[in-house]
Amino acid sequence: MAGEPQADCLFCKIVAGTVPATVVRETETTVAFRDINPQAPTHVLVIPKVHYPTAVALAEAEPAIAADILREAAQIAADEKIDDHGYRVVFNTGTGAGQTVFHVHAHVLGGRGLQWPPG
Ligand code: 5GP
Ligand code: ZN
Repeated sequence: MAGEPQADCLFCKIVAGTVPATVVRETETTVAFRDINPQAPTHVLVIPKVHYPTAVALAEAEPAIAADILREAAQIAADEKIDDHGYRVVFNTGTGAGQTVFHVHAHVLGGRGLQWPPG
């Protein structure tokens, strides 16, 4: 069924607690944890507890949870004090854009200068 946990999905395992992660926030619908290979002083991943491969798939199936992810991103930015300067919320979508884990995740990046375009 759509949204069900996938046995071979790393982030479903983090949701289930069978793979450890440094969790910074959790809600009824989301988990946020520090990226294992941070690209900025703050680099947190926000994921839905349900499994969808991309941001678009999640938004189409469960738009309220897609909105939850954006609210959580803002809360993390406030908690990490990167909201004043500005921060970036990124959904890499597809292998050509660098997506390596096909359980939708927002990267929340900040705490350093952020170039645009990002490359
Ligand atoms: P993507 O490349 O799909 O946009 O992002 C996947 C992110 O997940 C990468 O930034 C990568 O460093 C991170 N990542 C991969 N495996 C793990 C893990 O086991 N734990 C954590 N915390 N992050 C991971
Ligand atoms: Zn998953």
